[in-house]
Amino acid sequence: MLPYAYLSKGVMAMFSGFDLCLDVLKKVNLHGKDLAGGFSRLAFREEDRRAREELMALMRALGFSLEVDRVGNIIGTVGNIGDGLPPVALGSHIDTVPQGGPYDGVLGVAMAIGAAKEIRENNPNHRYPLQVMVFSGEESSRFGIANVGSKAITGYLTLKDCFSYKDDDGVILFKAMRDFGLSPEWMGRSRLLPSSLKAFFEVHIEQGPFLHRSGIDVGVVEAIAAPTRMAVDIEGRADHSGACPMNMRKDALAAASEIVLAVESVGIDEYLHGTVATVGVCRIEPGAMNVVPGKAHLKIDLRGIKKESLERAYERIRSAIEGICFSRGVKLNFNLLSKGDPVVLDGGLRRLLGEVCDDLGLRWTDMPSGAGHDAMYVASSIPTAMIFVPCVEGISHNPSEEVELERIRPGYRALVGALERIMER
Ligand SMILES: [Zn+2]
Repeated sequence: MLPYAYLSKGVMAMFSGFDLCLDVLKKVNLHGKDLAGGFSRLAFREEDRRAREELMALMRALGFSLEVDRVGNIIGTVGNIGDGLPPVALGSHIDTVPQGGPYDGVLGVAMAIGAAKEIRENNPNHRYPLQVMVFSGEESSRFGIANVGSKAITGYLTLKDCFSYKDDDGVILFKAMRDFGLSPEWMGRSRLLPSSLKAFFEVHIEQGPFLHRSGIDVGVVEAIAAPTRMAVDIEGRADHSGACPMNMRKDALAAASEIVLAVESVGIDEYLHGTVATVGVCRIEPGAMNVVPGKAHLKIDLRGIKKESLERAYERIRSAIEGICFSRGVKLNFNLLSKGDPVVLDGGLRRLLGEVCDDLGLRWTDMPSGAGHDAMYVASSIPTAMIFVPCVEGISHNPSEEVELERIRPGYRALVGALERIMER
């Protein structure tokens, strides 16, 4: 293996992929600017199409050979594909939430292009091809389903899903994809095999405040939390707010309020295990000032990367809800919407990233990801690693999403370093 010091001292200065990365960011973000602030490049919409065309033109000009698979993932390859060695892949997504920021996803794609180009230019003899993957439909904002592209190639998306999810205008996912020139009915043909790639890397902004506030520049993601989701419908009794005495009420909102606090307290108790619990939806009926609320609907999101902690939290939340509803004499309808297992990322790649960071003198740490990413699906087929870089105050999915260039550069260097080492093997 070539010592890394040699690569960094000698040839790496020849081509700066980081500057290219900034250029890619700028070009993609020419599209989908929202007049109300931020970027709205929702999956399979016109803005998404224009950004993808711009990106593909740029990648083509940089010498990538391009392919778009049946579900819209863009795959750009540089290097010696004929040698029979599986490519080393890296990437993320460029679609956004409504009024999202300029870095969520796009930064990972931009860094992937910069790194692939830099490595190829500086070390043309590397045996492995490099493959930049731009996943389609990562955000759930339009269709209510996330990670369409990465789920499809790893077998987590079904044709039934494509027909059951639709956007606010009633357009079903399948039709939106067909109108985009794709053929989701053939998605099986784009399936990623365990032998298809040597490894996959995704760089992403943290979307939380930990790195920014702690002064650590690189987060090596240990595991990605998959949410457990619950829907809770409480039926009390709507009554006149003036005429119904306090001791005769069945106030659904009062029960829901106790549940909200119970969920919070379970989250706080499990804090040290990295588990978080949130009531993100609370709707009441009829919702009038002079009516005791008769119905309340809650949605609860529970996440973490430690299975025992998640199990404990789930059981405690469930029994707290049952206890509260029983003691208040209100009817409960509890629905477990989804229960996801945390995805542990590849141990070998995590160690490799740690070594690279140490050798480069970077400030780094292992950390969990509370948010879902394409990497969690890719990880089911391919050894996968994820690098988090700081975003200012952790603000994301927001027009004020911001990064400091000098604080994301270390993550880029860690990516390039890790790729170079893995390609020497
Ligand atoms: Zn993202």
